[in-house]
Amino acid sequence: MTLRIVESPREMRKLAETLRAEGKTLGFVPTMGALHEGHLSLVRASRGECQVTVASIFVNPTQFGPQEDFERYPRTFERDRELLEREGCEFLFAPNRAALYPEGFATAVRVERMTDRLCGASRPSFLPGVTLVVAKLFNLVRPHIAFFGQKDYQQCLVVRRMAEDLDFGVEVRMCPIVREADGLAMSSRNRYLSVTERTQARVLVRALVEANRAYLSGERSAERLIDSMRDVLETVPQARVDYVEVMDAGTLERLNRIEGKAAALLALNLGETRLIDNHILGEALDY
Ligand code: AMP
Repeated sequence: MTLRIVESPREMRKLAETLRAEGKTLGFVPTMGALHEGHLSLVRASRGECQVTVASIFVNPTQFGPQEDFERYPRTFERDRELLEREGCEFLFAPNRAALYPEGFATAVRVERMTDRLCGASRPSFLPGVTLVVAKLFNLVRPHIAFFGQKDYQQCLVVRRMAEDLDFGVEVRMCPIVREADGLAMSSRNRYLSVTERTQARVLVRALVEANRAYLSGERSAERLIDSMRDVLETVPQARVDYVEVMDAGTLERLNRIEGKAAALLALNLGETRLIDNHILGEALDY
């Protein structure tokens, strides 16, 4: 089957309702395009579990702050279309801005608490913009399961919270981070990096590897694990660190001593590019 492109929200919903009435399980992979292996791994996960896969491409203006990269965000629609077709994705929902945010649009969708830290602290528009657009997309695509990447760990937990709190009836799956050969987490924003910055960007995974090594040798103090990551980050003075945290992996609460599952999370800016990464401490990370 070839990939069918759907632009109209109304058509998307009609299609979703027809597929549901036929008893099909719908898998959904929301993206902002500029697709890479990380996105494609989500499509594969959906194809493995669902009868029909819908991917979406929409560079969502509401999740970018006024000083952020909305205008220059990479847009590679033709190539994305080919990649999705090659993966056997059945539908691509690609609405335009006016279709999702018509004149008079005035609604907000906001998750409390879990959004005041990490990326939520430095990018106040980001998570409310994500929950708003994902709520709309869930209503239009009506998926049974939605596939998100661990790469955006906080985003995934926040979307899962929203889906539960607002009774969307959508299961939110978190899929593993896909990395480049040297460990850098794949991201559409990596293409902004200069050759030098691309080399420097490895410091994120190096910091996570260091924290993981310390954790595996028995370190359970969140503060000491954070310090060990900071030490690694300091080896690249050009990296402007936004946050380095070790938090409860389920609630994103700060920890003193790690007892349950914990996530190490970091964000930094290299030149004009913001990069994030994370790791569940104790899981394999061989770079
Ligand atoms: P984006 O297009 O950046 O909004 O990302 C769309 C989806 O792909 C989100 O659920 C991301 O978490 C996921 N994603 C992005 N990069 C990766 C990666 N390297 N590995 C796994 N999933 C990813």
